[in-house]
Amino acid sequence: MNKLSCYCGSKIAFSVCCLPVIERTKKPENAEQLMRSRFSAFCTHNGDYLFETHHPQYRTGLTAAKLTLSAKQTQWINLDVVSHNHLGEQESSVHFKAWFIEGGILRCMEENSKFISIDGQWFYCEPIALVNNTSKPNLLQLTTSDHQLEENKKISRNAPCPCDSGQKYKRCCI
Ligand SMILES: [Zn+2]
Ligand SMILES: [Zn+2]
Repeated sequence: MNKLSCYCGSKIAFSVCCLPVIERTKKPENAEQLMRSRFSAFCTHNGDYLFETHHPQYRTGLTAAKLTLSAKQTQWINLDVVSHNHLGEQESSVHFKAWFIEGGILRCMEENSKFISIDGQWFYCEPIALVNNTSKPNLLQLTTSDHQLEENKKISRNAPCPCDSGQKYKRCCI
């Protein structure tokens, strides 16, 4: 990935978007920011951060090493945040689509994740049922990517890379 903008699809530089959150110099203000930083941590193979931001009661056998390995095994390339919903005072859900490449094919993992805040720190808990967002208004103004990605599509070598780098695929994430 040769992106100048952040891995999380925000169109802001990684150095001012998810990096300070991962390095703990900036506290995520909400569950969506934490979720974005965790996606960027997957892209940069940062199992320690993924482990630390995984709610202790939901870790069930996970370790930082396992998370690093799992991050390395998938070529994550882009993220779309579909919606962010408040479930309660200290609880939110974030519905997202995480894009990855597998054998030259563009794939998408869709998940609605639950997040809990403890003493002002957000943690990832677990996937929950997908909600129908057409009937539920988003509570926050969200920035979603403007790209049109097509799932299960073979990426042609000369097409623009689906990671939004502006480069051709053959010079980027291939
Ligand atoms: Zn970011
Ligand atoms: Zn790329």
